[in-house]
Amino acid sequence: MTVPSQLDIKKREAKLKEFLKRLDSDGKPQEKHVVSVVRSAVRSAWLKSDVKLAYLYMNTVPDMDDSTRTKWLVPCEMCGKLFKLTDVEIDHRNGNHSFTKVEDFENYFTNILMVGFDDLAILCKEDHAVKTLSERLGISLEDARVEKEVIALCKQKASEQDKFLAKNGISGYSKNAATRRNLIREVLKNAR
Ligand SMILES: [Zn+2]
Repeated sequence: MTVPSQLDIKKREAKLKEFLKRLDSDGKPQEKHVVSVVRSAVRSAWLKSDVKLAYLYMNTVPDMDDSTRTKWLVPCEMCGKLFKLTDVEIDHRNGNHSFTKVEDFENYFTNILMVGFDDLAILCKEDHAVKTLSERLGISLEDARVEKEVIALCKQKASEQDKFLAKNGISGYSKNAATRRNLIREVLKNAR
């Protein structure tokens, strides 16, 4: 015979509380929680999508260099360099679709999953990050490339940022993060 222990009962109660936290008092789920679950379901369907995988396989070339451990390579459509399969990502050319309300569902589903080869591009991780950032901020690819460097620099300690600015002939702004960020951006833009 098996009976639940005190601990089992406690654990189950805690679990129930967790479920209830995401529900209204009448048991109905809140839209934003369900939307978030469905959003990740669509994303994981995309990972296994035949379109996506066929496109990747179509663009793969054999790596005939015996000295490498790689068997397959794929060119990035932005920089043209060859990458290992694990170093590229399949991008939706027309990306940046949001799905935060139930009304967005059909559009999201169609734009993410019901795409053809012309809607896709293979990008190296670096270029994919740049493209995503440009879409998110509504800026050009070139500005996004700068912005990526700005973000990386601004993640460092203030003293490191000051060092970078000082090296570029700017000093005395260490107290203000926003000013520092703008100056870093200016320096990087001028360096291009
Ligand atoms: Zn690239």
